[in-house]
Amino acid sequence: MDKARLEAQLAQLPLYQYAFIRTEELVFSDRVRYICETECPMYNTTWACPPAVGSPQACRERVERFDEGLMIATITEVSDIANIQETLDTRAAHEEITRQVAALVKQQADETLTLSTEACAHCEHCTWPHAPCRFPERMFPCVESHCILVTDLAEKHNIDFLAAGNIVTWFSLILYR
Ligand code: SF4
Repeated sequence: MDKARLEAQLAQLPLYQYAFIRTEELVFSDRVRYICETECPMYNTTWACPPAVGSPQACRERVERFDEGLMIATITEVSDIANIQETLDTRAAHEEITRQVAALVKQQADETLTLSTEACAHCEHCTWPHAPCRFPERMFPCVESHCILVTDLAEKHNIDFLAAGNIVTWFSLILYR
């Protein structure tokens, strides 16, 4: 990976922060999957979420096939951070930036795995579980679906995820090899 070339490309995008990471730094926790199952309304609704992504062990093995990755963060200011809909509406722009960064990483990698935010929202009605995903190249499983403690990774790389006020922070992880 020519990081200097990639960083020059990243400088053209509206990223808040980014960090090159090693997958050995990742902390996996079954607790994250438990929260998916018990607290997320998107659980069992798309191919990007559990249980479609596979067991925690299968997810971990999928991630650990890669040694390195790029963590990106975007921020958006909203009028009221407590307004869930307004907060969620900022996600589409983050997903588009994730898609652009993943495309840049793919230019230099044999294989990538992109993990992003929440459930997939490409289709009005997801095919899960009755038919294959319509757009597997555009479907990014959620980081949390793979049991990764994303805040731990952000802390390790001094990425400030507790921005003050009405700031929404989203993370994605693009693993490559
Ligand atoms: S691309 Fe469509 S079919 Fe695939 S996970 Fe997303 S919503 Fe479901």
